[in-house]
Amino acid sequence: MYQKNQTEGSYWSSNVPVVHCPKCKEKMSMLLKSTDLSLFYRCFEDCKREGKISTRDFESAKNQVLHKINQEISSKREEHENESI
Ligand SMILES: [Zn+2]
Repeated sequence: MYQKNQTEGSYWSSNVPVVHCPKCKEKMSMLLKSTDLSLFYRCFEDCKREGKISTRDFESAKNQVLHKINQEISSKREEHENESI
């Protein structure tokens, strides 16, 4: 069973919103397009309520995720360096 960590926003958890909707800033979910089996992100939040489905192609979202992961690794490293273990 997954043990909840005190640190928030672990990038390896699928529950963490790493890709945000460019329109409403809510979390986007990664989906597989059935027609050509390509990955894309879709917003299920505000945009859906407004009847406007917001999607984002995988490549552009991936670049954002990679950028965020790099930032988190850097900040985690600083956290650990500041901890006395
Ligand atoms: Zn949205």
